[in-house]
Amino acid sequence: MHDTSTLQARTAAVDAVRRMDALGLNRGSTGNLSLRGEGGFWITPTGMEPAALEPGDLVWMADDGSVQGVWEPSSEWPFHRAVYRTRPDLAAVVHAHSVHATAVACLRRDLPAFHYMVAVAGGDSVPCTPYHLFGTEALSEAVAAAFADRQACLMANHGLVAGGRSLAHAMKVMLEVEALCEIYLKALAAGEPAILSRDDMVAVIERFRTYGQARRAGG
Ligand SMILES: [Zn+2]
Repeated sequence: MHDTSTLQARTAAVDAVRRMDALGLNRGSTGNLSLRGEGGFWITPTGMEPAALEPGDLVWMADDGSVQGVWEPSSEWPFHRAVYRTRPDLAAVVHAHSVHATAVACLRRDLPAFHYMVAVAGGDSVPCTPYHLFGTEALSEAVAAAFADRQACLMANHGLVAGGRSLAHAMKVMLEVEALCEIYLKALAAGEPAILSRDDMVAVIERFRTYGQARRAGG
């Protein structure tokens, strides 16, 4: 757990926290993130300001339930664990009370396929879970259910969760969903956004599956 590779993982986690802060996705210590390791995951500690965070402050939560670290883990650790249990393919989970995603979450509304980039979350919507108290098993179960076929969800009256194959990927999904929520709110303020059909979104999801992986012969 304390070899070079895990130091790299914790350093990457600290960099991501600072980036979220710099981008204005979080205010103070509201957000948190985690990174899967062998036999558990690293998670940010509770109540720590991003500027003060160091790699050694990350908390290790082992699959056997044991916890190692100087600080208490984020109080929202249960839904991180729930996502990793549901999705073995995901290696990182990020969470923010970012303004626009949280505004949509406060409407208790799924983000519909009003724009093709909604497929970045893996389907034709970004679902909004029912409201549950933060840190509870009920909230974890709701997030896990949303992640069964998505890699992002809104949590009602709370915020946004995004997952990825890497920390960079999870951050990308989070930034995209936050931007989509901003556009959605603007579209809603101006009128009624048109929603793409299921067939339209199936075509986008199929394109995403191969997009960026196509290497030309000899390229
Ligand atoms: Zn939260």
